[in-house]
Amino acid sequence: MAAPLPPPRKRYGQHFLHDPAIIARIVEAIDPRPGRRLVEIGPGRGALTAPLVEAAGELDVVEIDRELAAMLPTRLGATPQRLRIHCQDVLDFRLEVLGTSPSGYDVVGNLPYNISTPLIFHLLEQVDLIRTMVFMLQKEVADRMAASPGNKQYGRLSVMVQYHCLVDRLFSIGPGAFTPPPRVASTVIRLTPRKPPAGELARNAAGFSAVVARAFSTRRKTLRNALRGFCNTEHILEAGIDPGARAEALSVADFVRLSNAIATARCRVM
Ligand code: SAM
Repeated sequence: MAAPLPPPRKRYGQHFLHDPAIIARIVEAIDPRPGRRLVEIGPGRGALTAPLVEAAGELDVVEIDRELAAMLPTRLGATPQRLRIHCQDVLDFRLEVLGTSPSGYDVVGNLPYNISTPLIFHLLEQVDLIRTMVFMLQKEVADRMAASPGNKQYGRLSVMVQYHCLVDRLFSIGPGAFTPPPRVASTVIRLTPRKPPAGELARNAAGFSAVVARAFSTRRKTLRNALRGFCNTEHILEAGIDPGARAEALSVADFVRLSNAIATARCRVM
């Protein structure tokens, strides 16, 4: 007899998918195929894992819950060659450990909601290794990723995700598709990494990330004040931006110009 499943653990954001129609829809969006390097974050009880390993032939999964990770091979009847389980915190996991994948990794999952934002930033650091990402997460986080300048939801996450990826909101899912049902609505999104065109490329990736973080750290302040000590008002003007504007008014391209103006000024000083 199969071992009984442990109850869902709140601290790991466990809300398990049980609706076959929804599971099929997410798998269709992922489009698993033999030969693709697929990585699933948080396989849990295997709702997505089973159809993914079936279609792709092999799969790497990252699961923090030791008990669930130990049950997966028997539950899915998969050998260690087909289902490679990395039992650890995904925030410490790096795709490099899987070796090279010339076409890039497809990273997917019904994400633990409590870590979805830090996880997206963690994956953006490794975006050069990724071909595509399909995630289910809170609708509110998906809205923030896709938000445009001037929108209340627009912030650091929007700028960093949109700089590195094309964002497609695919469909929404109500709480009834999960056990236990979450309190929030969920959205499935696709993030497709892109190389920004030459004219929109940040010359210093770390500097770009730092200026975006700093500008949004005090949303209500003007750029002149938010960036005090970080750059001069002249740098903001050099980028063609009004120092009296707030971060939420700047497009991704504005942030790139600003970070490039700061990088150029620092080179001049050195
Ligand atoms: N994929 C399953 C499904 O759709 O039914 C489970 C999804 S559940 C929302 C999130 C899964 O991520 C759980 O299995 C949970 O244990 C796992 N998880 C939570 N935090 C994690 C972390 N920091 N690193 C790796 N896995 C994590």
